[in-house]
Amino acid sequence: MSEPQVKGWCPGAWRPMATGDGWLVRVRPPLGELTRIQALALCEAAERFGSGLLELTRRANIQLRGVTEASWPPLMAFLIEHQLVSDSSEAERQPQLMLAPAWQAGDATHTIARQLQARGAELAEMPAKVGIAIDAGAAPVLRDSPADFRIERSADGGLLVRLEGHTLGTAVTDAEAAVALLIRLTHWFMQSGGAAVGRIAKHHAPLPAWAVANTPPAPPGAKLAIGKHEGGVVAGLPFGRVSAQTLRALVASKAVSALRVTPWRRLLIKQPGAAAMPALGEVIVQNDDPRLVMDACPGAPFCQQASVATHSLAERLKEVDAASVHISGCAKGCARRQPAAICLTGRNGRFDVIIDGRADSAPVATGLSESDVFIYLESLGALHL
Ligand code: SF4
Repeated sequence: MSEPQVKGWCPGAWRPMATGDGWLVRVRPPLGELTRIQALALCEAAERFGSGLLELTRRANIQLRGVTEASWPPLMAFLIEHQLVSDSSEAERQPQLMLAPAWQAGDATHTIARQLQARGAELAEMPAKVGIAIDAGAAPVLRDSPADFRIERSADGGLLVRLEGHTLGTAVTDAEAAVALLIRLTHWFMQSGGAAVGRIAKHHAPLPAWAVANTPPAPPGAKLAIGKHEGGVVAGLPFGRVSAQTLRALVASKAVSALRVTPWRRLLIKQPGAAAMPALGEVIVQNDDPRLVMDACPGAPFCQQASVATHSLAERLKEVDAASVHISGCAKGCARRQPAAICLTGRNGRFDVIIDGRADSAPVATGLSESDVFIYLESLGALHL
């Protein structure tokens, strides 16, 4: 087996990322779907080779935490055996496809994805973070999820290809034309200096004459609501995280056919006719639960770098009135790189409070207990008790 390429950014399974709680190994489910057997295998992998925690990412991947240098080789052999990872590290170099999670076999999103998979070798070799969203349902639902190239429904019901940062897209006649144009645009991106900027949104070269962007996309649709769904049930995961034990319970019924991952901390459990979601304490059942948007790293006892537990405080901070909240077990800030309106960072078993900053920014208050944190936030008017 090849040596792992441990990176500090954009990890994959072949390129694990070193974090405070060990290596993070990211799995890209093909078409955003795992069979029930694969989901169970992933649970086993998380428990045997990692810390037992799984996370959904903003790009609808699943990552295993707490993998070590020693456990990575057998983990990879296990993932390859269960067709969760390709046996070629080259496959991971292709840009990731993110599909609107409620796609159905034979619909436009599925058809385009299959065609793009078949022609994947024709895509230009692009920077590692570049992604493709295939969002061709009646209304785009991935607008807020990170991607560089998007295939969407146009306002008049047709299809278009749109680049991130552009409000308009280029109309195409059908799925085949959408795939062909997207492939051509990836080469244009690289030939016009894309490697230096890395992402389409930062790439300000004028669009080529053969890709005039003059077609408005359809208005955005809503993300999958938690609860009953025509194809099964949608379960919310606090902070996007789930234990292998709970995930196993979610797919325990043999009536579950598959699991769809989403970029919204939700899983679509494919089980047509399912009456209700299994009652599991760890699963979110309300669409307005703040743990669907609040950021918190695993913290203690999951991460050796953490001197504080993060989840218990986050659970108690449901009433915080702030645009964004980040609770970090230490100053490394694994759960959120960008600033948050309120950030609570663990240090020596207590919390520092940071306003409009990252986990390693200068604090406005230091050394607070959990109770002190509540008193402090209340004094700021940020807590509605
Ligand atoms: S931020 Fe959290 S997960 Fe990351 S190293 Fe610190 S305690 Fe561990």
